[in-house]
Amino acid sequence: MSLRHAVPAALIVFAAVPGGAFGQSYPTKPIRLIIPFAPGGTTDIVARVVGDRLGRELGQAVIIENRAGGGGTVGADALAKSAADGYTLGMATVSTMATNPATNPKMPYDSVKDFTPITNLVNVPNVMTVNPVKVPAKDMKEAIALFKKSPGKYSYASSGSGGISHLDGEAFKVMTGTFIVHIPYRGSGPALNDTIAGQVDAQFDNLPSSLPHIKAGKLRALAVMSDKRVESLPEVPTFAEVGLRDVNNMAWYGLVGPANLPREVVQKVHAAAVKTLADGEVRKRLADGGSYVDGGTPEQFVQKIAREITLRKDIVKKQNIRLD
Ligand code: GLU
Repeated sequence: MSLRHAVPAALIVFAAVPGGAFGQSYPTKPIRLIIPFAPGGTTDIVARVVGDRLGRELGQAVIIENRAGGGGTVGADALAKSAADGYTLGMATVSTMATNPATNPKMPYDSVKDFTPITNLVNVPNVMTVNPVKVPAKDMKEAIALFKKSPGKYSYASSGSGGISHLDGEAFKVMTGTFIVHIPYRGSGPALNDTIAGQVDAQFDNLPSSLPHIKAGKLRALAVMSDKRVESLPEVPTFAEVGLRDVNNMAWYGLVGPANLPREVVQKVHAAAVKTLADGEVRKRLADGGSYVDGGTPEQFVQKIAREITLRKDIVKKQNIRLD
């Protein structure tokens, strides 16, 4: 072999060793998964369904840590500032990556530059519900009539200021010319507790967290934000069917790491996530809860996040939404 050929070969081997060796051994200890919302919300539900199996695929435990606050920005910021070694990963949502950046001029992080997207796990429809005792309306038309009759009397819960459910609530108010008071929580879990208890009258939420309470009759679903009716709630109309524009499309939940996560880590976690999502039991649990499985490539997730930031900015502008 001539020197001309030998040199590049040697360089390739040299360059491949540090990353390759790291990639082969990773992970050698448990992985922390930051959930930027309280327990009981969809972020937490999806992370717990996926996390256990993901850990088994990777051969290390995935330890869930709820860091709620600031509409999801507190936990997302903690992740952004963690070591990019693959041992701290987090759940990214439409709220932490797109609606907050679209509405909050004082973001503590840059949702494009400060993370390494791995895969979008699921897409999820959203739903508007009422406490059936506090809002005695059998459908959307009756609820809007009640809200119109007494502006400021009724309230709605969101999973945090600047998040998707806050945006949904404010868009609803603009569309219907109603005034219902926004009450933000540290996630849908605590928001649901208060709506079910009747401390708050209505709620905008992602379907998986609200679904069991709708089925149990504790909350009444008025409409789902989805192109078509959802299988788990066939009797509930879509926003379009009740004459309202669906400004939402879907909420989504994915896996990300801090910026500059080694390529080998991204590939390993992505491969494990794809296997996890292909597992029959995991798929069933996600589907029964109202989620649509995704599991796309890291590149697709990068593009989705960029598209979603633009989309949410557009919605805020076009709907003339003002967040408090
Ligand atoms: N509702 C979600 C939760 O409490 C967070 C909002 C979102 O980003 O979809 O986990």
